[in-house]
Amino acid sequence: MKPDHHALLAWPHQVPAPVMQTLADAHYIRGMELGPPHWWQQWQKERLAELLRWLATKDWWQAWAGSRQGSFSPIEALSGLPIMLREDFRALIAAHAPEVPVEHGNLSTYSTSGSTGVPVTFWRTEMALRINTNHYWADHQRQGRDLTKQLSVLTAGQAAHDGTHRNQTGEPWLHPGQQLVRLTTQFTLEEHALWLCNDPVAYLATPPGTLTGIIAMIEELGIEAPKLLQIMTHGQTVSPELRQRTREVLGASIRDRYSCEETGPIAFQCPESDDYYHCCVGNVVVEVVGGDNQPLPEGTQGTVLVTGLHQWASPAIRYELGDIACFHAHCPGCGVTVPTLSQLLGRKHILLRMKDRSWRYVQPLARDWLKCATFREYRLVQTNPFSFRAEFVMDHPISTSEVDALANMLSKCIGPEFSFELIQLDAIPWPPGRKRQEFVGLMP
Ligand SMILES: [Zn+2]
Repeated sequence: MKPDHHALLAWPHQVPAPVMQTLADAHYIRGMELGPPHWWQQWQKERLAELLRWLATKDWWQAWAGSRQGSFSPIEALSGLPIMLREDFRALIAAHAPEVPVEHGNLSTYSTSGSTGVPVTFWRTEMALRINTNHYWADHQRQGRDLTKQLSVLTAGQAAHDGTHRNQTGEPWLHPGQQLVRLTTQFTLEEHALWLCNDPVAYLATPPGTLTGIIAMIEELGIEAPKLLQIMTHGQTVSPELRQRTREVLGASIRDRYSCEETGPIAFQCPESDDYYHCCVGNVVVEVVGGDNQPLPEGTQGTVLVTGLHQWASPAIRYELGDIACFHAHCPGCGVTVPTLSQLLGRKHILLRMKDRSWRYVQPLARDWLKCATFREYRLVQTNPFSFRAEFVMDHPISTSEVDALANMLSKCIGPEFSFELIQLDAIPWPPGRKRQEFVGLMP
């Protein structure tokens, strides 16, 4: 699809203001990432000082934070503030009406449940939204994408549509390539796989879970897979196995984005490495802390805390998302001198603490279970740090060979250091009124 040339007739005298703003923002975002570290350090210090000074004038903030501000540098003041859990964030928002300086623009509300099961509604300004959006545009530059090529977006977060997808004409100045937007839940995985194979595009944006399902379906159907350039993921942990399968089946590398609704982008994958994520120093301050809520030595796994620098409407300060990562002062993958994350693990309920104290992401998939036997339902419940109860329902008494296959699969997917009690049931006692969770860990 060619760009809309009518919109270009005014060039060069009448460039739309939002286009200029995006270019200027992206230039600044990339400049801070690629420049000397004192640029972003000084800039973050100033933004954080402004935010904390403004918050210090609010009673609801003083009640939460105490009186730590004022006598410290902004970065030191941050480390003295309490950790904000999602429940705290929700209570703080409920405790005051949103008010922001007029230059931050109009307010909109957003809702998210994240992966914690605690839904929250919060406010965001036009300025915060603009900076969030333009960080994603800057990532197109970081990852070297050709924005004249087609992009398919498979998302659960949009309205139902007619036909196989909704055609979204590209923005002619900055992103002229056609975008094919498709509601994930409107189609089966088989339909997604056939659609992707029959009408190949250069780029695909979708969560890792959908991508895993599509690749499994392409293999099961035995259809010829298209060759893509890059796949943009978000929202769930990307395993090394998924990266490898994506390269093998679709010929494409995964370029993951780490974000949350409450602050927007947190870190983008290094363009030269699968292992590292560059923190968005233009949007957030990222800390990785241990049990005492203080920073850990470089390369040690800890809890991620994020502080949104532009999120003044519903401030998220030392906000704990329940994710785990290692912190690096510089990117070991490409050498840029912004803080960098690795071993990024989200969604604690599918994280396990191993005997060597490291955290591992575990997720036996449906196909792993079904390779062992024709289970109708299953659930894995952690009963103590190194034991699980594997509950399952099937229409015949489980055979010895099926028991062996299941025990082997669990040992392989979860880890040989864990023990598994296998229990066949008539029905799994799912908790009433709650979403079914096939993995129940000891972590909250
Ligand atoms: Zn890098």
